[in-house]
Amino acid sequence: MKKRAWAEPFKIKMVEPLRMTTREEREQAIVAAGFNTFLLHSRDVYIDLLTDSGTSAMSDRQWAGLMLGDEAYAGSVNFYHLQEAIQEFYGYQYIIPTHQGRGAEHILSQLLIREGDYVPGNMYFTTTKLHQELAGGTFVDVIVDQAHDPDSEFPFKGNVDLDKLQALIDRVGAKHIPYLSLETNVNMAGGQPCSLANIRDTSELCHKHGIRVFLDATRAVENAYFIKQREVGYESATIADILREICSHTDGCTMSAKKDCLVNIGGWLAVNDEDLAAQARNKVVIYEGLHTYGGLAGRDMEAMAIGIRESVVYEHIRARVGQVEYLGQRLIDAGIPVVHPIGGHGVFIQAAKFLPHISREAFPAQALSAALYVESGVRAMERGAVSAGRDHATGENIYPKLELVRLTIPRRVYTQAHMDVTAESVEELYENRDRVVGLRFIYEPQYLRFFQSRFEPIEGNRVLND
Ligand SMILES: *Cc1c(COP(=O)(O)O)cnc(C)c1O
Repeated sequence: MKKRAWAEPFKIKMVEPLRMTTREEREQAIVAAGFNTFLLHSRDVYIDLLTDSGTSAMSDRQWAGLMLGDEAYAGSVNFYHLQEAIQEFYGYQYIIPTHQGRGAEHILSQLLIREGDYVPGNMYFTTTKLHQELAGGTFVDVIVDQAHDPDSEFPFKGNVDLDKLQALIDRVGAKHIPYLSLETNVNMAGGQPCSLANIRDTSELCHKHGIRVFLDATRAVENAYFIKQREVGYESATIADILREICSHTDGCTMSAKKDCLVNIGGWLAVNDEDLAAQARNKVVIYEGLHTYGGLAGRDMEAMAIGIRESVVYEHIRARVGQVEYLGQRLIDAGIPVVHPIGGHGVFIQAAKFLPHISREAFPAQALSAALYVESGVRAMERGAVSAGRDHATGENIYPKLELVRLTIPRRVYTQAHMDVTAESVEELYENRDRVVGLRFIYEPQYLRFFQSRFEPIEGNRVLND
């Protein structure tokens, strides 16, 4: 049967005008931003693909939910709606809301990690790893090798390599591994899923050694969609069923609801252990707020509860991932080096291959994202050596195999025409790639440096010459 086209499963009720800028304005803006797209003013951006975090468009029902905010300090009705939705769709028992994902990571890391512990994970995430380190732990990457190879077509590049995990257990001993951090649809690998078989086996191995498994559930719904597409035996399962099954193998999760859950702010920590829940509730009052709001307004929790229900609707997730795939396929057809297979939340350009004349020490991905902005007003994000930061022990720069620029697609925000313009912008820059200049640091903050660092071109004063 001929493959049918799909269309967005919604129509647009309210619009937000976009502002076009001139190239001259963008040249000035990127200099003022220290060649870091995080430091641009959003009013100077045309199509904003910096991140899919908190940038989703809410539905009419979610907006209506905001009006039902019960802003009581304690026991807000919206907290109980949120708790019900998480229990129903993620299946965990105890829910502690937090202002966003890193709030949950902070609490979990402080509660479970002791000085000298090791925390294995399927590739690092920036905030997750930092919270593990601040708690005295050392992150150990146990993702499969294929994840580090941008050209590998392996369908489950998020999988844990059980041999690497076993080797770590043998080397440091299970009692020095408080938990394994299992990320779904691994962000830094390019939005790559884990299979349910691997999640099951990983959790079995961990539990056999008394090691807990905590899910980073940020993009578990996107992962569930890929399982339905790719894993034998799940073709006719619902997204909700697959999501429940993923979570059922784990002891709890941290969540950045700013991604899958279709809200602009929010997160949570979920656990099944009653005693750990009590400790987490005791921590949340120090850093976030009372355990029935965790730094959120009641209305935010209501929007999140509704967003969770919308996120598992098949037509929604198919269109979401389908839009990313559409952009990815356009770039592949144009010969642009991108990470394969196309991920769930963004298209990741292989920057070192795109700009072979720029050495890793001159940060090709940082330069590429700055140059793309100057060329077109499209804002992307560096996901390479700048994001990886410095080695916790030696202080040296880390150069991960993946030196990427992420074109991240906000949910339900842009149309296919915006994807076309984005693809044309990248293609045009590709034709002019010889004119892109590498960068060096002029300011480097201590933590999560990619957010706030500033750069200058290694020669001249422009990142994209005429
Ligand atoms: C965004 C993200 C986080 C952190 O969540 P915040 O809401 O930004 O604090 C953690 N893990 C993954 C995989 C993420 O994408």
